[in-house]
Amino acid sequence: MRTISIFGVTGSIGCTAANILAGQSNKFTITVITGGNNVTELAKQAIRLSPRYVVIANETHLNELRNLLIGYNFEISGGRQALINAASIPVDISLQGIVGFPGVECSLTAAKFSKTLALANKESLVCAGPLLQNICTINNTKLVPVDSEHSAIFQCMLGESIETVEKIILTGSGGPFLNTSIEDLKSVTPKQAASHPRWSMGQRISIDSASMFNKAMEIIETKELFNVSVDKLEVVIQPQSIIHSMVGFNDGSIKAQLGPADMSGAIGYAINYPNRDPLTVERLNFLELRQLDFLPVDHLKFPAINLSIRAIMIGGMAGAVFNAAKEQALDLFLIGNIGFLDMARCVEFALNEYELNPIQHNFIFEDIMELDTHMRIRVIEMAKGL
Ligand code: NAD
Ligand code: MG
Repeated sequence: MRTISIFGVTGSIGCTAANILAGQSNKFTITVITGGNNVTELAKQAIRLSPRYVVIANETHLNELRNLLIGYNFEISGGRQALINAASIPVDISLQGIVGFPGVECSLTAAKFSKTLALANKESLVCAGPLLQNICTINNTKLVPVDSEHSAIFQCMLGESIETVEKIILTGSGGPFLNTSIEDLKSVTPKQAASHPRWSMGQRISIDSASMFNKAMEIIETKELFNVSVDKLEVVIQPQSIIHSMVGFNDGSIKAQLGPADMSGAIGYAINYPNRDPLTVERLNFLELRQLDFLPVDHLKFPAINLSIRAIMIGGMAGAVFNAAKEQALDLFLIGNIGFLDMARCVEFALNEYELNPIQHNFIFEDIMELDTHMRIRVIEMAKGL
């Protein structure tokens, strides 16, 4: 039996992981499960998965959680510190499925106390890539990506050396606005932006997919994970979302990883790594599929990708700047303060500011957090003028 903790069990990644684990209960003992606000779902998952510890990050829901779990023998706690304490409990595998910047500190902590960090929270690599990699190296922790593109690249790289890689081709579905004009993009609503044509995901990553900020984050994530130079990174739109990404080598050969658009594949792979265990996902049928399409990215409509390349070129903590501005811009879009296309303007503004005043840093978490807070305030101020 291997021990596993699931951070963000009430979310899209977390619930998919819980479904896999419920079917593999002979292989895993669940140590910790955590949720942010959704107490009902957290209590439901606790009863289903029988973990040792149940943590609700928003402490105001702690009493409600305790009431829902009366008669059960879980150790229940709440609040930010309780979440970090839970990440400090040694386990074989930590699955990191918290969304956004709140997941970063949790990943950095779990990386010290887990044999494998199965990482869905891409913000951890975007904001703190070198720090996270360093912690994993020191503690001999295996970092296995859960993001489908990075899981694909990881699988293509098995038995290969990074020196022989000519290019990494990240695929993207193109999102709900692939065929929407730039004029119409100005007035799209959060609801329209959150309805992804292929993948079923949380609200924030769905809107990031519509703006291609998700792909932009994934470019930085790829660079941090595989340590490749930016000129080797390409993005191709693959509208069917069947090819999850590809790696081209110096002999002209290209490896691709294919599968249905279902995160169970990447989650199952990461938690069972280095083994492959059976999963009850849909199997591809090429004769039904018949065709795979490829399209270029429209950088005028989707400036996010070029902004992420700029963040890589700026270096230092520009990834944390990129993420803070993107998260704050998304919050402003969600409450109707700015338009869909303004989100890229906010990120460009933040990168300009950071480039002009590259704050001295030691790449410790406290510096990253300070920069994150500072950039959010600057974006709010700037957005008032939009
Ligand atoms: P989601 O919104 O569905 O779930 C997020 C989880 O994080 C929930 O359990 C929520 O309670 C928890 N959470 C939110 N704020 C928190 C806070 N302040 N403190 C502690 N916990 C908090 O998100 P998701 O779609 O499952 O995505 C999770 C992560 O995985 C994101 O980083 C996303 O980019 C990445 N990812 C998701 C998918 C997908 O298919 N959903 C695919 C690839 C990568
Ligand atoms: Mg992805």
